[in-house]
Amino acid sequence: MSAKTEPSVKTEPTKTQPVKSEPTDSESRNSEIANRGSHVLVGNYAPAPVALVRGEGSWLYDAEDNRFLDLMGGIATATLGHAHPKLRAALEAQASQLWHVSNLYTTEPQIGLAERITRNSFAEAVYFCNSGAEANEAALKLARRHHHDRGAKSGEERFEIIAFDGAFHGRTLFTVSVTGTPAYWKGFGPLVPGIHHVPWGDLEAVREKLSIKTAAIIVEPIQGEGGVRLPPPGFLKGLRALADENGCLLIFDEVQVGMGRTGTLFAHEQEDVIPDVMTLAKALGGGIPIGAMCTTRELAAALVPGTHASTFGGNPLACAVSCAVFDELLEGGVLDHAKSMGERLGEGLDAIAAEVGPGKVIDSRGRGLLRGLELTGPPGPVIDACRELGVLVISAGGNVLRLAPPLTISEEEIDEGLAVLRQVLSEVEFAPSA
Ligand code: PLP
Repeated sequence: MSAKTEPSVKTEPTKTQPVKSEPTDSESRNSEIANRGSHVLVGNYAPAPVALVRGEGSWLYDAEDNRFLDLMGGIATATLGHAHPKLRAALEAQASQLWHVSNLYTTEPQIGLAERITRNSFAEAVYFCNSGAEANEAALKLARRHHHDRGAKSGEERFEIIAFDGAFHGRTLFTVSVTGTPAYWKGFGPLVPGIHHVPWGDLEAVREKLSIKTAAIIVEPIQGEGGVRLPPPGFLKGLRALADENGCLLIFDEVQVGMGRTGTLFAHEQEDVIPDVMTLAKALGGGIPIGAMCTTRELAAALVPGTHASTFGGNPLACAVSCAVFDELLEGGVLDHAKSMGERLGEGLDAIAAEVGPGKVIDSRGRGLLRGLELTGPPGPVIDACRELGVLVISAGGNVLRLAPPLTISEEEIDEGLAVLRQVLSEVEFAPSA
C-alpha cells in the first residue's frame, strides 16, 4: 500500500476541513487498518489510507472521526446518501423475514422491484443479478442467444457486437472485451471474439461495421468512466435507426447514468429514444449490490430455463432495498430534487471553470448529478487536496475530475463542496505538458 500522497497545493483550512475529535491515541487508526488490508487483500485496488467507518446523508466519517463531504457517492451508487432511514427500515424489515432462497422459489421483493422497473420504463421483463458487469453480460448473452434462436430458422449467424472507444461495461471477460479502453484488456487475451470498437459519436463508423453478423450495438447514453462524455446531438437516435435498419439489438448501459443520476429516471428519456435492452446497477440498490437487465417480453423469450442464471440474482434483501430506493425517487420527491441540485452543481462548476480558466479546466460538462471537469493535468493531486479539505471526488478517463454525489445532497452541501473545489483548483499547479 502506498503512503498518503502529498497534494501539490497549499491548502488553507475551510469550513469542511476534517476535524479530529481525538488527536492523541486515535491518530494512526486509519493507517493501522489500511496496513492490515495491504497484507491480506489482492492489490488490484489502491485505496486511500482512509478507513471509512460510517456515513450519514452526504457525509462519511473515518476511523479517526474525520468527516468528509461525499461528492462521489460510492461511484454513483449512494443514491439516497448514507444510512437513509427508509432504506435502513426496508433492509431491517426484510432481514427479519427472509434473506435468500435462490430462484428455484418465488420471492415477492424481486417481483415488486420488476413491477416498479416495468411500470416506469419501456421494459416488460427483468433479469436480476448482482453488478453492472453481470447485467451487461446478461444483455450481451441475450443478444447472441436471441439471434441464435432466430438464425436457426433463417441460416444467419449474428454474434458480433459493436461498442465504442472509451466505453466501460465491466470486468468479466465478455464485458471487458466490449469495454473500449485497451489498458483494461492487457494480459487477459484472447478476448471474446466478434467485437468491433468504433469512435464515440461516429455514426458512419458504426454503419461501416454493421453487417449480417451483427448481434447488437452496446452504448452508454453518457460515457461515465470514459470521462463524462455526452453523446453528440442525435447520436443515440441515429444508433436506433441503424440498429433497426440492420436488424440488430440496441443495448443501453445505464449502469452509471440510470436511476435519476442525470435528471430523469433513465438517461435515455432525454434523448427520446428507446433501446431493446437496458442495464442497471449502481444506484439501483442505493448501496446494496444489485444489477438488472431489462428488456421486452419478445426478446426475453430467448432466455428459457437453463440458459442463464445467478445464484444471488433477485436476492430478497437487495430487492427490498431497491424497491425503497425507487419509491423514494418517484414518490418521495428525490428525482425532482436531484434535477434542481444537478443544475446548481453544473452552474457552480461552469463558474469555477470560467474563473480558473482554460489553463487548468478545459471543459465543464455532464448532466444532472453526474458532472466532469476536464483538467489540463492529472486529477490525482486535486483529488488528494480535496480530501485533505474534507471533500471526496473521483477521476474519470482523460484527466477528468468526476462528481457523482448522492441525489439527496442539499444546496448548502453543494455550495460547501464547490467552495473547496474552487480553492483547490485556484491553487493547483499542473506541470506544463512536454
Ligand atoms: N457499466 C458502466 C457504464 C459502468 O460505469 C460500470 C462501472 O463503473 C459498469 C458497467 C460495471 O459495473 P460493476 O462494477 O458493478 O460491475
